Amino acid sequence: MDIITRFAPSPTGPLHLGSAYAAWFAWNAAKEAGGRFLLRIEDLDQGRARPEFEAAILDDLRWLGLDWDGPIIRQSDRSAAYQSALDHLSAEGLTYPCFCTRRAIADEIANAGAAPHGPDGPIYPGTCRTIPKVDAAARIHDGEAYAVRLDTAAAIARTGAIRWREGSNAITAVPLQFGDIVLSRKDAPGSYHLAVVIDDAASGVTLVTRGSDLKPATDIQALLQRLLGLPTPAYRHHRLVLSADGQRLAKRAKSASIAERREAGETPDMVLEAAKRQLGEH
Ligand code: GLU
Repeated sequence: MDIITRFAPSPTGPLHLGSAYAAWFAWNAAKEAGGRFLLRIEDLDQGRARPEFEAAILDDLRWLGLDWDGPIIRQSDRSAAYQSALDHLSAEGLTYPCFCTRRAIADEIANAGAAPHGPDGPIYPGTCRTIPKVDAAARIHDGEAYAVRLDTAAAIARTGAIRWREGSNAITAVPLQFGDIVLSRKDAPGSYHLAVVIDDAASGVTLVTRGSDLKPATDIQALLQRLLGLPTPAYRHHRLVLSADGQRLAKRAKSASIAERREAGETPDMVLEAAKRQLGEH
């Protein structure tokens, strides 16, 4: 099988040592296998995505010599695909509209005392799961804003156990640790998890490589793949390049920006070597 990998940056800041390493890792995994390396711009967060960051990312990737195959995919062009997946899940009875504002959720969690946390933050307490369908329909009809959530427990009851592969290890997913994730919002037709799954499948990605911070996300993404009848690719989560004091690299941290290293006279090799050195690969 041909190996197809991808690098999927969010254009919310310039490339830094960590994201440059992630790009190289995916590029290298494809090149080693004689496969293809795709580039997808994850620009669904309209509040934070900026065209100038996308331009800077492309410029840095070109400079690093990490050339991609085929056209760039932009998630902002893919709403119709997300909507049809959402319609499918809704027709299967696996979603519900959620009218809670972020504020209402925060208050409810605060009042509950103990708030279970999942990989994406506090778990949604399920407030809107039990709203009778007629009442929900009336509220939508009246123009109330809502998000669509996955009824994760109902979904798991439908699919049974979900497994995915990290290298040669089989991992049993625990999608419930995420609770009822948001699949779409008024201002965003596809949430991160839904969009990733649809786009990886649509582009024929066979090997997802990304930082280990996203390893837990695979549990819920593998569930979505099964629900939507999509193949589950192989996964390789790599360690994160950390700053000298062991913190995650912030996009704003100028010291780590690729552009700044370029201006300081470093070559592409020096930049990639610096990232690998921080990971102890040399
Ligand atoms: N857009 C995500 C990020 O920049 C990566 C998504 C993925 O690789 O699945 O963190």
